[in-house]
Formats: sequence, structure tokens, C-alpha cells
Amino acid sequence: MTKGKKRAGSRVARVVRQRAAAERRAAALEGMPGDVARVLASPDALPEWKRFLRAYPTVPEAVAAVRAGEVVEVHSEEYVSLVRRVLVAEAGAFVETTLHPPYGTVAAIATGLFNSDDRAAAVRGVLAAMPELLPGDLRVEGLECVVEEDGDSPLPVFAYRYRVAAEGLGSWGEHEVAASRFAGLADALGWADRRIAVGARAVEVLRGHGVAAVSCAACGEPVTDRHPVWPGVWVDLLEESGPVCPEHDGAAGRDGGHPVLDLIDIGGPHRVDGAGGAR
Ligand SMILES: [Zn+2]
Repeated sequence: MTKGKKRAGSRVARVVRQRAAAERRAAALEGMPGDVARVLASPDALPEWKRFLRAYPTVPEAVAAVRAGEVVEVHSEEYVSLVRRVLVAEAGAFVETTLHPPYGTVAAIATGLFNSDDRAAAVRGVLAAMPELLPGDLRVEGLECVVEEDGDSPLPVFAYRYRVAAEGLGSWGEHEVAASRFAGLADALGWADRRIAVGARAVEVLRGHGVAAVSCAACGEPVTDRHPVWPGVWVDLLEESGPVCPEHDGAAGRDGGHPVLDLIDIGGPHRVDGAGGAR
């Protein structure tokens, strides 16, 4: 076979494969509600949502699957950490959405818990502070602040959660309408840290509720001197630099006779005044 024929043959095979894939996609979309078909056809939609919607195209189908013993849930990390579950209780079926705060908030909470002598009291303090970490317009009725123990972590996981009754809902679009008062939460808790309190501001709110959170006076990062592998050293959990403060004044260090390797500033500690007060 000549090179030209080979190329023509592989072109034909590719066209056949593409046509078959397009037909499979069209068959998969057939009978899907319009909003679901749009997501399934979108190249931008994430695979976890496509899998979820393909399996459960409507709310009643999701509820029926739960009643048949299936675990109906999707975990997404698109721009916010979100878990959506469909659950059936005695009072009826509901759709539950759990949203986790971004790193900047988690770092303040985590260091606050490490710094506290009374873990149970600190957990209560965090739960009480959580509504105040949100902007006022998002402190809406029905929004719960929850804590989950994760067996693998030395710290519990905090989250915001809302539930919408599944009864009467047909499409997932109807669920979004029923949950519309919570709609701004995903953006507020997104990776961009746009509206929820983070860093030093989150520390301030937590301290107002008796949690011994502390932030560095120089860089503002929440810090702890009870990190499991850095005991006795003030470290932040968020930056890779850990015990090294990005705002440490190297010039002042040189004047004060602190070690500098040739021309390389080897950094310095975070600045914490008064060890964070009451623990
Ligand atoms: Zn610092």
C-alpha cells in the first residue's frame, strides 16, 4: 500500500470513529430534560456533574434511586468545594448541599483550634462564629453551620449546609429556583476568597467568639505554635514557607547581626505579640 492510500484509510477510519461517537452522544442525550442535555453536551461541564446528571436526570429519579438503596451524591471541586446528596428521611426526601470554606478561612479556623486548650469549646466557638464570617446578605434562614469529624485528620471539618425538600420538584432547574436564596454562597466561598472572611479578618471574627486564633503582625497570616510537626514555632498552614514570614525584614535582621548566607536572606519568624492572649 502506498503512503497516500494509508493516509486516506486512516482519515476514513477517523471520520467513522467521530461519527460513531457523535451518534452515541446524541443517543445519550435523547429523552434528557433540556437543562440536563445542555450540561451533558457542554465541553466545559465537569465529568462528575455529567456522571451525576446522566445517572439522575431529574430530582424524582434521584429520590427513586435513593429509595432503591443507591447512594446519590456528587463531590465537586470546580471553584468551590461542594457535596450534593439526595437523602430520604421519615419526614420525606430532600436535596442537601454542603459547601466548604476556602483555604484562607480554613487556615484561620485550623490554627485557632490548634491554639485552643479546650477543643470542644473552640469547636462551639467556630460554629457560633461561622455566620459572622459570611457577608450579611448570605446569613439566610435555613443555612446551617456544621462540623464533621474526619477520621484521617487531627482537625474536624467545618461546612455550611442547606436542605431543600424534594417533594414537588421535577427538574434540577426547579431545585435551583427553590434554593435560590443560597445561590450567592458558592461564589462567596469560592477559591477566589471573594466575600467570606479570610486570614486576619477571619481571625478577628473567631477571637470575638472566644477561639484563640492568632495572625502574624507582619504578614497577617493565621499562625499557630502548636503545629503537630512544628511544636513551639509559629507557623502558618497556608503558605509553603510555613515558619518563614514573607514580610520578615531581612535588612533589619542583618543590622541586628542575624544570620544571612552571603547575599541570601534566609528569612525569619512570624511576629506574634503576646502569644495570642487567652487560650
Ligand atoms: Zn508573618
